Amino acid sequence: MKFETLAIHKGNRITDAHQPVVQPITLSTTFTHGNDGGSLYTRASNPNRNSLEELVAALEQGECAAAFSSGNAAGTAVFQALEAGSHIIAPHDMYHGLHQSMVTLFKGIHEVTFVDMSDLEAVQKAVRPSTRIIWIETPSNPLLKVTDIRKVAEIAHQANALLVCDNTFATPVFQNPLLLGADMVMHSSTKYFGGHSDILGGILVSKLKNEFWEKILTVQKVGGAVPAAMDCYLLCRSLRTLAYRMKGHAAHAMILAEYLYSHPKVDRVHYPGLKSHPGHEIAASQMTGFGGVVSFEVNGGAKEADLLISMLKLFVNATSLGGVESIIERRAAVEGPDTTTPPNLIRVSVGLEHTDDLLEDLDQAFAQL
Ligand SMILES: *Cc1c(COP(=O)(O)O)cnc(C)c1O
Repeated sequence: MKFETLAIHKGNRITDAHQPVVQPITLSTTFTHGNDGGSLYTRASNPNRNSLEELVAALEQGECAAAFSSGNAAGTAVFQALEAGSHIIAPHDMYHGLHQSMVTLFKGIHEVTFVDMSDLEAVQKAVRPSTRIIWIETPSNPLLKVTDIRKVAEIAHQANALLVCDNTFATPVFQNPLLLGADMVMHSSTKYFGGHSDILGGILVSKLKNEFWEKILTVQKVGGAVPAAMDCYLLCRSLRTLAYRMKGHAAHAMILAEYLYSHPKVDRVHYPGLKSHPGHEIAASQMTGFGGVVSFEVNGGAKEADLLISMLKLFVNATSLGGVESIIERRAAVEGPDTTTPPNLIRVSVGLEHTDDLLEDLDQAFAQL
């Protein structure tokens, strides 16, 4: 079945005698011993979570998935599942929340080398005998850098390491890392999966149900950072329309990127769909669409960027991305003093409003700079 069809039908488990069309929400935390569904206690297994995991595994074309209470919990589960003393290679511009997880929670437990993932020689040079994971994020947050998944997968496998890809920005609508050589995929389902800025969640998908996956499941069940049944239900509901939302987000992002690219008050635009983007060709070889996030650097510095944002009426000045509403923020202000993000960089999560209205709002805001 094609993506759109799987998204609508997969994991919709109807066991109720009334035969509802949509699977009900099972709020019960505990289940009668000896039941047919195999659930015992909701931290270990819940029908809505099982459905979500089945659905996302199918969309990413993996064998299995594990849902968590946030994207950070999902990413952190990978580091928790590693043996102490493991070495991880991660991108310089890794999502800052997971960068924080690695350098604070796992300080003294694992070793990590941060590299520029577009420099394959640097990735190769960073490999050590203890390297267990190469972590990539493509396109990256917030610089929209593109990593060649196939090439980094080769490096990882030669080193007997696993390649894990944070696929939050691309979503499985546009990119299936498991088909390009990655071993595991991570998502912050808070973003496009939820799609309406009202659910926090994360999920891991594995190509194989192997020994490492068993450890991930132990972290999920024993660590207990699992999502509630209501959130799993809402995520399944949101995923039914993911393909159509992503096509809209990407089409709108391209229109905004082109507008910003030709704007005299903009220094640089970061969007892999633009031919001028250094990663455009690699992106085109591994993605079927370029996603809904555009970053740009406004002429001047932090002051001008803040001023522009304050003049906008339709774009919401908030963090996060992937919702139906357009959200904008100056990223360096959120990432704190140790950030490498340029101070004048504005990240836009392009929403599903009509682009005429979005462009009109940008026009009036730029006119006041
Ligand atoms: C938001 C985000 C995360 C973290 O997810 P949370 O749900 O906020 O914990 C990880 N990676 C990327 C690329 C993100 O955008």
